[in-house]
Amino acid sequence: MTSLATTDTPLGEVLDTELAARIEKAFDHRTIGDLLHTLPRRYREHGQRFDKKSLVVGERVTVIGTVQSSRSRMYQTKNGKGRREMVTLTVDDGGTVFTVVFFAGSRIKHMLPVGTLAMFDGTLSTFGSKLDLKHPEFLVLRAVSGPTGALRGSGDLAQLAKLSAKVEAEGGESLFDRTYLPVYAAKDGVTSWDLFGAVYTALRALVPVVDPLDPAVRAAAGLMGLDEALRKAHLPVAAGEYKAAGYRLRFDEALALQLLLGARRRFLARDPAPPSPVRSDGIRAAMLQRMPFELTDGQKSVLSDISTDLARDEPMNRLLQGEVGSGKTVVALLAMLQVVDAERQCVLLAPTEVLAVQHHRSLRGMLGDLGEGGQLGAPDCATRVVLLTGSMSTAERRDALLQIVTGEAGIIVGTHALIQDSVDFFDLGMVVVDEQHRFGVRQRDRLRTKGRDRMVPHLLAMTATPIPRTIAMTVFGDLEVSELGELPGGRRPIATSVVPARERPEWLTRVWKRIREEADEGHRSYVVCSRIDAAGEDEPGGKRVDNDGSRPDPVAAVELYKFLTEGPLEGLRIGLMHGRLPPEEKDAAMADFASGRLDVLVSTTVIEVGVDVPEATVMAVMDADRFGVSQLHQLRGRVGRGGLPGLCLLVTTAHSGGKAMERLSAVAGTTDGFVLAQLDLQQRREGDVLGDAQSGALSALRLLSIVEDGEVIEIARRHAEEILESDPGLDAHPALAERVRRLVGSEESEYLFKY
Ligand code: ADP
Ligand code: MG
Repeated sequence: MTSLATTDTPLGEVLDTELAARIEKAFDHRTIGDLLHTLPRRYREHGQRFDKKSLVVGERVTVIGTVQSSRSRMYQTKNGKGRREMVTLTVDDGGTVFTVVFFAGSRIKHMLPVGTLAMFDGTLSTFGSKLDLKHPEFLVLRAVSGPTGALRGSGDLAQLAKLSAKVEAEGGESLFDRTYLPVYAAKDGVTSWDLFGAVYTALRALVPVVDPLDPAVRAAAGLMGLDEALRKAHLPVAAGEYKAAGYRLRFDEALALQLLLGARRRFLARDPAPPSPVRSDGIRAAMLQRMPFELTDGQKSVLSDISTDLARDEPMNRLLQGEVGSGKTVVALLAMLQVVDAERQCVLLAPTEVLAVQHHRSLRGMLGDLGEGGQLGAPDCATRVVLLTGSMSTAERRDALLQIVTGEAGIIVGTHALIQDSVDFFDLGMVVVDEQHRFGVRQRDRLRTKGRDRMVPHLLAMTATPIPRTIAMTVFGDLEVSELGELPGGRRPIATSVVPARERPEWLTRVWKRIREEADEGHRSYVVCSRIDAAGEDEPGGKRVDNDGSRPDPVAAVELYKFLTEGPLEGLRIGLMHGRLPPEEKDAAMADFASGRLDVLVSTTVIEVGVDVPEATVMAVMDADRFGVSQLHQLRGRVGRGGLPGLCLLVTTAHSGGKAMERLSAVAGTTDGFVLAQLDLQQRREGDVLGDAQSGALSALRLLSIVEDGEVIEIARRHAEEILESDPGLDAHPALAERVRRLVGSEESEYLFKY
């Protein structure tokens, strides 16, 4: 019985119902298409020998080899009730010798006499210097005697052999004679062999799949047809085939993603933006005149791009990348003033309350009386900067909302509270989002519906977590990207050292001494901990590292504060800040540190990116290995901001020579945020790096790696543009439209593609 199937056919109609149910439960695969779009992890080449060096203990391996020796011995079972026969075989795969052990082997030993060629599938362990497989599943491939083709084996392999025998009886191939056997990632008791059997059965039933791509696109991109790709990806006869097949399937995902991003871009460009041309006599000009420093060339060039964008009636969509301290905020301020000059409002959105307060304070500081609009003596062109956060009192909030709706407030700084429906703007001209990666696309677009007369406010997104350009294009493919490379003001990059606290405890003493010396000079220091208190609560965002017992527990802020106050830093003015303090106390601690009432701030990561204390010169990060690379890079960006040289000390108990130490050395070795971002991406899961920015669509990608597949993505982007150019609603490409729908859900694709 071979029923016919399409990619939409439910698994249960083609596979054995019990297997179908297990696969659905383990992988959430419902259809044949789901199953076939999950590619093998690797391919086991027939006759391929194991290279001893590449074997990993604890991994599941499939060994094909000849039984060289067989020993058996009787033993008493633990409960003393019975006797068993332990059978030990040595199996040579033509290069490497494995020991194969069966604890209840009396029946098995007759199936596997010396000379038998068999396949063994089990978990690799070591016993002394020997490679060991304990009670693996096995399948006899060539028996020493007896009828050939007789089925001898155990477990899933025996199941698969049954399938193979059936296929052979129908005139097909033997599965075990294939040059390449696919190896799938097993899960929840569904083995690689289970999946191979399921895929094989599915492919036999699958009617030729219709290719959703135009032949012209296929030819131009050099792509294998979809039907062929689905088959060759699982059952290749040559290495080139599975590579080409995988490429085709990844291309499809890249194309769907780029169609989505392209459609978003077009959607946003459909409604006009409020044009805000530069004025020579307004607040922007006044601010430029009183700037305390010259803009760097990078700032000038980015600002000129932004100025041009803002003057047009098409919404700007720009991502500004630059390290902490590279001068993004200044650029944002001048951009906002251009919009204020056009008598419109701007919103500056910060991811946290601390940052919003900081932005509000520094914008007011930079503006001086230009930010005192409505007050006596303020210049005519002055505007007003209003703060709106979740923790404001009802009265404060009402007052702020009033200033926003009447248009008195030109610049509004706030947290998510702003996104709430209750905020009405008088005339919103631009949205500035700080730390773009913390916001989802929906949150961002939500504010963009708040323009006057259906106009779409301009968008400037900023991030200090640099993302390699190809990735920025993928994830924020609907944004133009600008970069600020140099640090302004001739600032020197921060010096960073690793302090191995266990191997060199005296270095840690030196850290506290250095902090004391800095305080004597009137400078300030941060001491950052990954954990709030010894009870074990981590600050969110901290990296959890399994403690294997060989390392001390991480240092906690509350305890370290006490220790430093009574010990090495006695007499200095020390503050404590962490996420469990009420917002007022956090703000007070930060304000005291900024104003110089504190010398040292012991804190968790709640001190945010972008917090600006020019006198801060030293940062000690305790248990630095518990933080991600980008996070460390951002943390250290908080010192050395005021022209004084900055020093960052990465304290760790990690073993030298280990991965953690390697990572910290990399951070110490470079201040190039883009290099570090790449390193970070390689070490972390993509979703963690990108936050929730596009996680919805990205989690629907099965094969595409936005870190590794930059090239495919770029090619797909060009094709997506061409397709949308001629068919913006994807009416002539229903199969592609369906792919996009699967990425974002029908609601969003509905509005994106309705023209
Ligand atoms: P970012 O927002 O990228 O972290 P900021 O805009 O806050 O950076 O700038 C960091 C510090 O550098 C601020 O104190 C700012 O006043 C100062 N700064 C910015 N641009 C310049 C410049 N061109 N010359 C000198 N100092 C600058
Ligand atoms: Mg900033």
